[in-house]
Order: sequence, then structure tokens, then C-alpha cells
Amino acid sequence: MIDLEDAQQFVVGSCPPLAAVPTALADVVGKVLAADVVAAEDVPPFANSAVDGYAVRAADVEAAPVELFVVGEVAAGAAPFAGVVGPGQAVRLMTGAPMPAGADAMVMVEDSARLGDERVRLWRAVAAGAAVRDVGDDVCVGTTVFAAGTVVTPAVAGVLASINAREVMAHPAARVAVLSTGDELVADGSPLRPGQIRESNATMLAPLLVEAGCAVDHLGVVADDEDRLEAVLRRAAETVDAIVTSGGVSMGDYDVVKAVLGRIAEMRWMQVAIKPAKPFAFGTLEGVPVFGLPGNPVSSLVSFELLARPALRRMMGHQRLVRTSLIAVSEQELSRGSDGKVHFVRVRGEWADDGRYHVRTVGAQGSHQLAATALADALAVVPEGPGVPAGADVAVLMLRG
Ligand code: AMP
Ligand code: MG
Repeated sequence: MIDLEDAQQFVVGSCPPLAAVPTALADVVGKVLAADVVAAEDVPPFANSAVDGYAVRAADVEAAPVELFVVGEVAAGAAPFAGVVGPGQAVRLMTGAPMPAGADAMVMVEDSARLGDERVRLWRAVAAGAAVRDVGDDVCVGTTVFAAGTVVTPAVAGVLASINAREVMAHPAARVAVLSTGDELVADGSPLRPGQIRESNATMLAPLLVEAGCAVDHLGVVADDEDRLEAVLRRAAETVDAIVTSGGVSMGDYDVVKAVLGRIAEMRWMQVAIKPAKPFAFGTLEGVPVFGLPGNPVSSLVSFELLARPALRRMMGHQRLVRTSLIAVSEQELSRGSDGKVHFVRVRGEWADDGRYHVRTVGAQGSHQLAATALADALAVVPEGPGVPAGADVAVLMLRG
């Protein structure tokens, strides 16, 4: 058996980041910047008012209440006031309107009373700069706004729009083919004949891939037929960045994934020292990474999380490859026997009043029992040894968020 850390290092190390491509702003959320973004424009591009009110010379309102002459009015988006605000004068501005020359502060409309068309009474003194948004006080032209490696969130995309970065260099989403293998699998809803079961893995893996940021080619179920499988895999390798297969990687006589990939790809067949998900294969077909996940649904999920997902994230330029882990409190004893493996127990947790995350097992822990695992939100890590007593600390790997 191979330790999980060694398997992860091998797999992740074999999946270098995909070459960056110019990416339109509309497509960039969720992707990782491949180059620093330097602001080509100031934000805001001109000094403007943060409030609806009156642009004044702060010195004129020092002795508030005062009365000033209103010499102009400017809405956001309108041309700036053409003149210069002189002593005793004010200009009515809406939020976002450019500050007129001569004025250096804003008095909010709430602190004013208009006296006819020409004059306004202001009853609050304000300091110079009050409620004025200076040019470049959000982003200054020439500065690095985001470093390479930044994950583009919706807010980051908003900033890119604000500096007119219409296109940025980013790592593309990995295009990933996913397929299930097994003569027993039925995916189309038709009645089960004796010996058949419903397909569940590809149905689970496709959205897991999407959630990880990948673009998915769903290839469905491929029968346990070497020629068919070889044709499907070869065709996929021509168009995708990675291939994820489910089933057929263990020791059975009909493990066709093993037979075919063993012949046409460079594969490493691993027995990873974890439970569930011991059998796992990784290699390349025509240079395309291939992740051979085991067929048992829970094993498929766990090996995707621990081995495939981190590698795919690296391909997409992410620097944080693994999910959040934390030290939780186990509400129950997590017992185990000695088998040389790290056990990943599916648990559900809650944040308690002590500020800690308290977990309980989801129940059935068989590697075919996806129904219980589906309700888990974390994997508790129980290393070789005596297990975890009730009330003791346990490391958990969060499965979401
Ligand atoms: P295998 O790894 O192909 O030997 O499959 C191990 C177990 O997982 C068998 O009981 C299969 O029937 C089951 N299995 C394999 N693939 C799937 C799938 N896509 N959906 C549900 N069960 C599967
Ligand atoms: Mg099979």
C-alpha cells in the first residue's frame, strides 16, 4: 500500500497548471489569474460627491449655520460645473457628481434648507474633504490590484470592470470527460433486469467536477467491453484536459478499465492506505491525465475528493488545493481495527456554543452505502491506532464550502 500523502504528491505533481489564456470578463469568475493585474485607470476617475448635498468651501461653513448662494446644480453623469465656486457660493450635487473647482467639501442635503432658487441655509460645519471621494482613492492607476494566483470572485470581477480590464490572463477551466463502466449499470431509467443496478457515480461526479470549476463532457456508461472502452478513451483524450473513470480498477476479472488503460496508457495502479477508496489509478493517455476511481460509490466520492480534485484544482491554477480542515469534537467514539490504513469516517457536524465543531457519524459506513454518506458534510480522519474516544478531538476535512 502507498500512503495517501505520497499518492497525492504523485498525482498532483503530475498535473501541472494549464497554460493561461486571455479570458473575457464575463467568463472569468471562478478562475485563477495567471498574471498580475495592473490598473490602467483610476477609480474613481475624478473627485466626486459621496452624498446628495452642496459642494462648498469648508472655510465658508465653519461658522454654521450660514447662508450661501447656489450657483449651479450637477447630477451624476452630467458635465462638471463649468465655473469655480467662490466665497459665499455653493453648488448642488447629486451623489457621484464631479466636485466643482473651488469647492473642497460636501454638506449633506439633510443638513440644509433651500431658501428659494438662489440660496441655501446650511447648519453643519464640515472639514475640508468631507464626503468627497478623491480620484483614485479606491484604485490608483499603475498599482497592482490583484496578484497572479488570485481567485476571481464576483467582487473581483466587479473591480476588474471598474478599471476596464475587459480581458485578463487566467487559467482555463479544465475540460474533463467523465464516464462510468460496468455491464450492470442502468442509467436511462428502464426497469432493472436481474443483476442490474442504477448508475450513480457519473451522476455524482459530473456536478462534483463542475463545483470544482471544471467543464464536463459526460460520456455516460460504457459497457465492460475492451474495444468499446478503448475507442471512447482514445476519442476523449483528443479533446479534453483530463479523464475521470469510475469502476474497473480493482482486482476483478472484468476490470476492463485496468485492462485497457494498462495497455494504451501509462498508468500507476495504486492501493492507497485509506478506507474507503483503497484502489485508485492515475496516469496519462496521450499526455492527458486519467483518474481511475473505484466503482463503489462512496469510494468513488472519497478518492475524487482526496486525489482527483486537488490535482484538477492545480491544473486550473489554484494554490489552495485541498478543502478546509479543522479540529472538531467527536460526539461519539470512533472505533477502528488495525489495518494499516487511515480511515475517513463520514460525519455530520454543527457549530456548538463552545465555538467548536461537533461531529457525529452519518450511520452506515459501507463503501456501497451512498445514501448515508450523501448526508455527510465532512470526513473525520481516524489514523491507525486506538481510534477516537467520545468527546475527544478529531481532524475533519470539510466536504463543502
Ligand atoms: P468495480 O470497481 O467496477 O468493481 O465496482 C465496484 C462496485 O461498485 C460494484 O458493486 C459495482 O456494481 C459498483 N459500481 C460501479 N460503478 C458504479 C456506478 N457508476 N454507479 C453505481 N455503482 C457502481
Ligand atoms: Mg465494474
